[in-house]
Amino acid sequence: MSVVSKKFQIDSKGASEVIDITDTVGKKLAESGLKNGIATVFTKHTTAAITIIELEKGMIMDLQALWAKLLPATATYQHNVLNNDTNGHSHVSASIIGPSLVVPFEAGKLMLGQWQKIVMIDFDSKPRTRDLVLQIIGE
Ligand code: ZN
Repeated sequence: MSVVSKKFQIDSKGASEVIDITDTVGKKLAESGLKNGIATVFTKHTTAAITIIELEKGMIMDLQALWAKLLPATATYQHNVLNNDTNGHSHVSASIIGPSLVVPFEAGKLMLGQWQKIVMIDFDSKPRTRDLVLQIIGE
């Protein structure tokens, strides 16, 4: 059993941008040389999240419409009031989804379903460069 950690960065526009990171994660997994185990994808930020979706335009539009309805940027957030900040909606949105995802792998390949893509969603209100970690536990 080995543990391999890989770090990488993703540039994003913010504003609930959904970015496909499946190929990057698969490539980093292949570089690890491990064949069977679990891979955790983690973002080191409080306004970005990691999840799996069916990646097509309608799905992205539906999710962005949901976030805008549930957590509009213009609502009152105590994070903004108490910290003189503007991205309370970004923090709440990201915390609901969560900063990490675990995906099993076998024979060096992520065991994703046919339509599953690993995405990072950046809820912040401005473009950012995001630090991510892929930690692989396997043999
Ligand atoms: Zn903030």
